[in-house]
Amino acid sequence: MNQLHNNLSIAKFGGTSVATYDAISAAVANVQQQTQRLIVVVSACGGVTDALVKIAHMASDSADILAQVEQRHQAIISQISRLRQARLRYWQAELEHIHADLRQHLEDMPEQTSTRFSQWRDRLLSFGERCSSLLFCAVWEEQTQTMAEVMTAETWLVTDERFGHARPNMDATRTRTAQQLLTLNPDIQYVTQGFIGATEAGVTTTLGRGGSDYSAALLAVATGASEVQIWTDIAGVYSTDPRLCKEAFPIPEMSFDEAAEMATFGAKVLHPASLIPAIEHNIPVFVGHSQFPERGGTRLVKDTVFRPDVRAIAVRKKQTLMTVHSIDMFHASGFLAKLFGIFAKYDISVDLITTSEVSIALTLDEGGSQANNQVTLPSVAIEEIEAFARVELEQNLSLVALIGNQIGRQSQLSQWVFDAVSPTPVRMICQGASAYNLCFLIPSSDTDSVINRLHERIKR
Ligand code: ADP
Ligand code: ASP
Ligand code: MG
Repeated sequence: MNQLHNNLSIAKFGGTSVATYDAISAAVANVQQQTQRLIVVVSACGGVTDALVKIAHMASDSADILAQVEQRHQAIISQISRLRQARLRYWQAELEHIHADLRQHLEDMPEQTSTRFSQWRDRLLSFGERCSSLLFCAVWEEQTQTMAEVMTAETWLVTDERFGHARPNMDATRTRTAQQLLTLNPDIQYVTQGFIGATEAGVTTTLGRGGSDYSAALLAVATGASEVQIWTDIAGVYSTDPRLCKEAFPIPEMSFDEAAEMATFGAKVLHPASLIPAIEHNIPVFVGHSQFPERGGTRLVKDTVFRPDVRAIAVRKKQTLMTVHSIDMFHASGFLAKLFGIFAKYDISVDLITTSEVSIALTLDEGGSQANNQVTLPSVAIEEIEAFARVELEQNLSLVALIGNQIGRQSQLSQWVFDAVSPTPVRMICQGASAYNLCFLIPSSDTDSVINRLHERIKR
């Protein structure tokens, strides 16, 4: 077996961590300081995937956006000054080759309504990571004077054909990764792309926005790695979104379950699916600051010994509350199956659900859940439901989730929560399905004030 198998970890660097020459240099230093063997997974340089999404939507200034993307990459490679000329020329030629490929791809744009469009779009979005992985290698070689190589994601991550939100085929991924590992040279630093995979036939797919965290976790499973490191622009998972509350503080250790709830309910620092492989295979995850690893971070592990407590608050904005009323529901069986059959048919992900005798209320993410990137509410789906029930939709809501341990065993919880939320109206509440959360919906306009009031009760 290849030496790379021993004591291997996966280190993922997010968009901000590879956004500039200086950021990549810091990420390189971070990897170099570690003693164990690492395979690096990178996101696109910060902002590049957003730019490519705009181009895919045929923004009127697409030509300018494309030029800016190319300039961003050129600016990084042009700052490399201490690399052998021959090697620098090699990386410059590789970058130029990928940029030319991108321009060619844009020439071949199919009709937006055609079935080929989603496939074309995935290939377009993959160019961000294609370029950043190459840039990471070039800066690595400059800073360390040792070799780096790109390990193309399409060679190891096998997915289904759900373009835009592909799901891994783990058996095939394991087999391909094992083959790859045998070919790797222990003296070379390997860098692979997050977010990208390929179908069995080799057609490029993407895992959904923010999917590089997920790629890192999948690579850890496929290689049997002992740890996943998520290096980002913040020193760990915080008690709440630090952009909403300046009192937010880092949590040194969390259980997988708590972290999974945080990610599902909106803590952008982790992709919601990224903990599934870690949970299934008990692989510890560390979240830290790419540039300042000495600041520490959050260790996510299977079991922690925390007393019942609320430990963090997550928020998801842009929620829709859908209420479905039907007198047929009264004492009838099969109503929910019929309703959820329609959601399944249109691949709509529902988050919270409450029911009464003749109605059911549920929440939908307006932008699509982070995991599947779908537009959640096609009008045809609503029309199908309206054939047997009355539908009401309320938008501009935020879903607030209190995350902690054995939430349901805390006798004082509801009192302090609703004292803190008051006078904001609560449009829906869910508790009980999970021992780790209590969720409710509030008008979006009150989000910041409610989060700050609730956060006052969270102890370090
Ligand atoms: P990356 O590009 O490295 O994947 P992201 O932007 O996806 O980084 O995630 C990091 C960001 O997540 C942080 O800068 C922070 O603003 C946001 N965030 C939201 N909620 C939390 C939280 N509870 N803890 C830490 N960061 C959070
Ligand atoms: N570059 C992709 C995105 O911006 C994936 C990632 O960064 O995780 O969504
Ligand atoms: Mg991210």
